[in-house]
Amino acid sequence: MTYAEKPFYQDAPAFPFRTQILKYLQEYGEDIRDLVRFNVEVVRVEKERESWCLSVRDLRDSSRKSWVEKFDAVAVASGKHIYLHGKRLITGHYDVPLIPDVPGIETFPATKISHAKYFRHPSAYKDKNVLLVGNGPSGADLANQLLHHATSVQRSVRSEANALAITNPKVRDIQPIKCFRPDSIELLDGTILSNIDKVIFCTGYLYSLPMFPKDTGFITPDGLYVHHLYDQTFYSEDPSLVFLGLPKQVIPFPTFQNQAIVVCKIWAQRLALPSREVMRKDEAARLQEMNFDGSKYHSFKFPEDVALAEHWREWAERDKGEGSERGMRPWRWTQERVEFRRGAPRVKVRFLEETEKGMWDYLLLHEA
Ligand SMILES: Cc1cc2nc3c(=O)[nH]c(=O)nc-3n(C[C@H](O)[C@H](O)[C@H](O)COP(=O)(O)OP(=O)(O)OC[C@H]3O[C@@H](n4cnc5c(N)ncnc54)[C@H](O)[C@@H]3O)c2cc1C
Repeated sequence: MTYAEKPFYQDAPAFPFRTQILKYLQEYGEDIRDLVRFNVEVVRVEKERESWCLSVRDLRDSSRKSWVEKFDAVAVASGKHIYLHGKRLITGHYDVPLIPDVPGIETFPATKISHAKYFRHPSAYKDKNVLLVGNGPSGADLANQLLHHATSVQRSVRSEANALAITNPKVRDIQPIKCFRPDSIELLDGTILSNIDKVIFCTGYLYSLPMFPKDTGFITPDGLYVHHLYDQTFYSEDPSLVFLGLPKQVIPFPTFQNQAIVVCKIWAQRLALPSREVMRKDEAARLQEMNFDGSKYHSFKFPEDVALAEHWREWAERDKGEGSERGMRPWRWTQERVEFRRGAPRVKVRFLEETEKGMWDYLLLHEA
């Protein structure tokens, strides 16, 4: 899961802890740190004549006045949300939590309902009976972390988990929810749960790009995917605007490193894009491939994720121009890495067993 040119720490566990990831990222970004302006939010992005005009504001300035700065090109990499002084400020890929409209949900006490997005620490659920909804990566991670803190952890499941979402067998998987009542929850098989203290929806996110005027149509009301893109990246009407990191279920760092290298080479005119006509057809072709299910538009399940990263690597390597050997090298999915990826569920099972034996303490390592 590393960037191509920076290996991970040798003594880290197979599934490193957040403090280690943070350190890794801070080290990786050290050489460009002085180019980053922290606490500056982009509130509006609009094209005027030849320039992209960005309205920005300093989040530390209480007047919240914004000013406009002009750029030739814009890469949107707005990923997830951030919190500052406990206040949610920013929106992006993992920002708008998706809570399904289950019958009767409005009658159930709102204080008992939450979303994986707001999960910070398993100790907050000490002595609670927790019901998780969903068995994707969040449903698996939260279940594993809650197991040793909550009184009970049950998980309402409607489909098979993806191969990497391995859960401790002590977690009890139960039927999907039929409806909520003011003091209980009924499952599809008629079971009534009447002792649930907390329901955490691990049901994913909607895409949201509030900095663009609505009429650009990047996000339609369904919020399922970002429209008008070529190759998941380039705004087909004007490729001086790109979106980085939208594909899901991929290995993010190396995949998006390859994507970013392609973007840099296109913008530096070392590589070329196809005609606008071809770029415009890409969205419809991908949708057709996904059976017109917009929620799958950015989904690249293994081994599709390998193909995507390799496609960007091969594209980047088509640059044979002068000096190309000096640039950043893209990540390559060697056969060995693909096999490791295929076997990752086994590694995760081993890691969970080691956690059970007390070798890795989530709490201590989170606080370290
Ligand atoms: C539950 C879960 C588990 C995961 N597990 C893994 C894993 O095991 N391994 C792995 O590799 N990945 C994992 N990921 C994915 C990984 O966290 C993301 O892919 C990665 O953080 C995306 O990086 P990013 O830079 O695109 O976005 P982010 O890290 O979210 O960064 C986006 C940045 O954009 C800024 N921003 C947003 N809007 C604006 C604005 N308007 N103006 C200015 N700045 C703005 C934000 O402040 C933030 O700093 C997981 C994600 C989730 C949700």
